[in-house]
Amino acid sequence: MTPDRTPLPKLIVGKIRGIKLHTKILLGLILGAVFGPLLGNIAVQIKPVGDAFINLLIMIVVPLVMASLIVGTASLGDLRKLGRIGIKTVGYYLVATALAVAMGLAAGKAFKPGAGMDEETKASMLADYAGVTEEQLQRVTEKPSLGDFLVRIIPRNPFRAMAETNFLQIIFFAILFGIALTILGEQHRKPVLDILNTVNDAMIVLVKMVMRVAPYGVFALIAAVSAQFGYGVLLTLLKYVVVAVGTMAVFTVTFYPISLRLSGMSPVFFFKKYYEVMLFAFSTSSSNATLPVNLEVSENELGVSNQVAAFVLPLGATVNMNGTAIYQGVSTIFIAQVFGISLGLMDLLTVVLTATLASIGAAGVPGIGMVTLTIVLTQLGIPLEGIALVVGVERILDMTRTTVNVTGDTACAIWVAKTEKELNVPVSEEVSAYA
Ligand code: ASP
Repeated sequence: MTPDRTPLPKLIVGKIRGIKLHTKILLGLILGAVFGPLLGNIAVQIKPVGDAFINLLIMIVVPLVMASLIVGTASLGDLRKLGRIGIKTVGYYLVATALAVAMGLAAGKAFKPGAGMDEETKASMLADYAGVTEEQLQRVTEKPSLGDFLVRIIPRNPFRAMAETNFLQIIFFAILFGIALTILGEQHRKPVLDILNTVNDAMIVLVKMVMRVAPYGVFALIAAVSAQFGYGVLLTLLKYVVVAVGTMAVFTVTFYPISLRLSGMSPVFFFKKYYEVMLFAFSTSSSNATLPVNLEVSENELGVSNQVAAFVLPLGATVNMNGTAIYQGVSTIFIAQVFGISLGLMDLLTVVLTATLASIGAAGVPGIGMVTLTIVLTQLGIPLEGIALVVGVERILDMTRTTVNVTGDTACAIWVAKTEKELNVPVSEEVSAYA
């Protein structure tokens, strides 16, 4: 037998090439977390690599959603079906979000993360982060009424909606455009749909290309976060972080598996296919940036039809934030406890309502959950300085809640697809998908 004479570097490169993409992304994440603090300033300097990666994803999202939703609506054939999909999706999102806030509140009440913080720590945190509170105070704008909200869903200029990545407006326009195409005869519709189909396919090709550089982007993002992260703050707020992250984890391993089972899908199969999307969400802290990958995996690996995914997922990126809802429940209780404010049942119901509504209008971008938290605090009359108590661990909680947020969108898409007979797992996977 001839010994293998492949030179070592080539062997290593070959081995690395052989690793599956999702394993590489996970490696990027782990290595970033481990080496970030060691690299220090260098890690901060390579952050543009991570930002470039996020920009690449965001670059794809608007044309992808637009093309895919117009094609999806125009090929639906039956507008009543669209109405049904809409009602089911919004219903699911409202129930899941309200349940998530309630779970966050219950966990906060049960584990009392804010009880026992000494006055000195509290005073020093309030002083350290006073600037952030000022900024938040300026960002709290008047809450729009329901009427305003509905009017604002209609874009005066669809191109502006696209330029601002305003998903609610984009969805509104794309559906109407799709309906208009359906009304036009086949002959008129076809050339437009052919082009949009090609745009859609080209965007998917781009998603796949960006996914190949994901391990490096994820490494750069996580390295920068862990290099800059205040581990001291983490220790001070450990109980709060554990309660918040723990509740999100419990929600993820209870609510979603139940929803998946109701949709006839094996949760093990789901998480095996989906954890790559979760890694994207965790590293980018943005449901919007994760959307292209989420659409790709939900349609091609989990079998959700284009019609359902193209509508349910972009809507979810804006409207459905289960992780954020849990965060708001836990944080409200935490801040109230530190300030010694006790919240009665009515207050808790106010939190459920306000947090659910606040999450509807918030875009899936980094840090938005902390902004909408101010709405909840204002509603309850809790001092907004309280934000200063949680800001030190904001990034890590943002990463976690984004992961839970996107998972909720896909769990809903699978359920809606199942009930609409639009769930078609690839034949080769059927055995494990329905196990
Ligand atoms: N970053 C989250 C998301 O994109 C929203 C939040 O800040 O809670 O889903």
